[in-house]
Amino acid sequence: MQAFVIDAFTFSRLEEQRSGSLLVADLPRLSAESANTDGALDWSLTGGKDASGHAQLVLTVDGSVQLMCQRCLTPFAFDIDSESVLILAKDEENADEIEAFLDNDEIDVVVGSKTFNIMDLIEDEALLAIPQSPKHAVCPDVSLASADTTAAIEVEVGKKESPFAVLKKINGRT
Ligand SMILES: [Zn+2]
Repeated sequence: MQAFVIDAFTFSRLEEQRSGSLLVADLPRLSAESANTDGALDWSLTGGKDASGHAQLVLTVDGSVQLMCQRCLTPFAFDIDSESVLILAKDEENADEIEAFLDNDEIDVVVGSKTFNIMDLIEDEALLAIPQSPKHAVCPDVSLASADTTAAIEVEVGKKESPFAVLKKINGRT
């Protein structure tokens, strides 16, 4: 998985670009939140700097995952089309300084490194894009589904934690 590790500051300074695609099946945390491991994500990462000269990465994630509808308990394809700006900090202290300086909740400040794992970043982005309580816009008629299948699905849904609770635990960030 070497292709997913970058030197974050060099990547930004040289304004590098990288893109690729990942299977949901390759992302264990996303798989755990999904109804099954079908689906794939296209991603792109662009290095640069913000108006104040901070090193930044722009990440886009575009694709679809199978989520369990919390109303009718059948899986459906949820489209992810997400872009975020990440400002790179040297360490936690520097991250706090930049956050205070930017004073903008929509911009994430992350601690960069020479061995920055962008696969984690892509997975985080996808997890944050997933609704906490996914539902069909309009549920299909499920009266034909067998009662056994519905019961089995219900047990699985009951065990699941919200993606936000899981992310908090893993990242320790707000
Ligand atoms: Zn539904």
